[in-house]
Amino acid sequence: MPSGRVHEAINLTTLGLMGLAYLATGPRKDLADPGVLAFTMSYLVGTFLITPDLDLAEKRVRAKGRWGVLGVLWWPYGAVFRHRGLSHTWVLGPLTRLVYLALVLYLLWLFLGGVYAYLAGGRLPALLLLPGLPKEVLLQALLGYYLSQWLHLLADGILPDRDLRRRPR
Ligand SMILES: [Zn+2]
Repeated sequence: MPSGRVHEAINLTTLGLMGLAYLATGPRKDLADPGVLAFTMSYLVGTFLITPDLDLAEKRVRAKGRWGVLGVLWWPYGAVFRHRGLSHTWVLGPLTRLVYLALVLYLLWLFLGGVYAYLAGGRLPALLLLPGLPKEVLLQALLGYYLSQWLHLLADGILPDRDLRRRPR
């Protein structure tokens, strides 16, 4: 199974090739297009920060290290998800990490809100995720993230039919 470094190299090479193909054949050829930027950003996030191997986050794993002290936030994910189990499926796997992160951020916000209310007697402003981004841009972001995860799975030798063949934990 490829190391984290190899996964990153594969993903970056593919991103470079996609960029060249886009510049050569894309309708707008504009790398500053919001959709292209959203795709690229979330693809990079999926390559370096939120990878399927966070299911090893109870140990040492490259992506967790990139979070610095916040890497500890991924520990429960690593504890709950078996390595290369549900985390390494095509449809649900990437979703588990997004839902997990949203949950952690929400709990963190609740906690900070509680502390703030206790200390300052006020309320934190409502948590607004992805405020007002056009649907098309959000879709591109989701596509970039999923593609980065799928390349990881392919490099691990996991094909899409795995989702159908058996029901991983
Ligand atoms: Zn993996």
